[in-house]
Amino acid sequence: TQLAVPGVQKLVPYVPGKPIEELERELGLSDIVKLASNENPLGANPRVAAAIQAALPELPRYPDGNGFKLKTALAEKLAVSTEQLTLGNGSNEILELIARTFLTPELEVVFSQHAFAVYPLVTQAVGAKARVVAAKDYGHDLTAMLAQVNDRTRLVFIANPNNPTGTLLSKEALEAFIKALPASVICVLDEAYYEYVDPQSRADALTWLAKYPNLIITRTFSKAYGLAGLRVGYSVSSAEMADLLNRVRQPFNNNMLALVAAETALADSEYLGRAIAANNAGMQQLTEAFRTLGLAWIPSAGNFVSVDLRREGEPIYQALLRKGVIVRPVANYEMPKHLRVSIGTEKENQLFIKALSEILNDV
Ligand code: PMP
Repeated sequence: TQLAVPGVQKLVPYVPGKPIEELERELGLSDIVKLASNENPLGANPRVAAAIQAALPELPRYPDGNGFKLKTALAEKLAVSTEQLTLGNGSNEILELIARTFLTPELEVVFSQHAFAVYPLVTQAVGAKARVVAAKDYGHDLTAMLAQVNDRTRLVFIANPNNPTGTLLSKEALEAFIKALPASVICVLDEAYYEYVDPQSRADALTWLAKYPNLIITRTFSKAYGLAGLRVGYSVSSAEMADLLNRVRQPFNNNMLALVAAETALADSEYLGRAIAANNAGMQQLTEAFRTLGLAWIPSAGNFVSVDLRREGEPIYQALLRKGVIVRPVANYEMPKHLRVSIGTEKENQLFIKALSEILNDV
């Protein structure tokens, strides 16, 4: 460990949800329900599967290193220019590119308590200092975050909606915050769950880019578009910022099948619409069950919800596992009494609710 740079020595590894196959083997169960990684429960989009099949003859060729077709389609859809786009291997890679492009060990990064785990990871990996700001009602306390900005601050990460809390900032509060930031501080607005937000509550952050050149918006194909396994995310920023990110980016960071899949998914509003409708219905199903069980939850604008068990979450998590239901403990997010559950299909939600009620009846 002494050989690693200081930031890396102190890193706590990101622990992903266990793969279903591993658990099936461990528990000797089949029909495992995985509601642990905020994935799309609809299953693979058949149009995407067909496009991937059709692209297979191209496997010996390198992908288009500039993602021309995907960028062109995104630019048209988002009403931005292709020069403003950066494609990443998941939006996680974009977050990492941002850290590598803009941070040094002398600089600081501001983000909220209970915010997405990749922010501390990319900050520490480049040796920059994280200023973690106490949350307010589990959401970002923008006033307190602004107060932590000083002349060493280079980045602020904001997830809207936030993971694992699902909290959403009002567009007014968000824009006022970005407006108040010094020009030398870059605001990374992480909109991984954007598509799930009720259209009336969505911030139209893309239209702010002309006003605030220090704004970078990140989004992903992993959630509502159902392509988590292929790893495609992107950022929209000023052309100048995108140029910098694209200099640091590895050539061919998106594989050819991922590019084809994202192009196809972007054009398929039917799948997207179904995903959003299913998420709304599933959110209602779960929150109604929580109400019946007498449990509180954090109102969520994403495809997951964190439920308050008012007791240690870890044993409940373990008991759910033994019943073949994988959810996400969030003790590492300083939420030891919550469990985060991703919205599944109606049947998966039902199996989770049944397992949870049985466990709560027993304790
Ligand atoms: N941001 C947030 C807030 C997330 O929850 C996630 C996924 N867990 C990501 C970014 C990264 O997603 P991906 O790399 O799959 O685009």
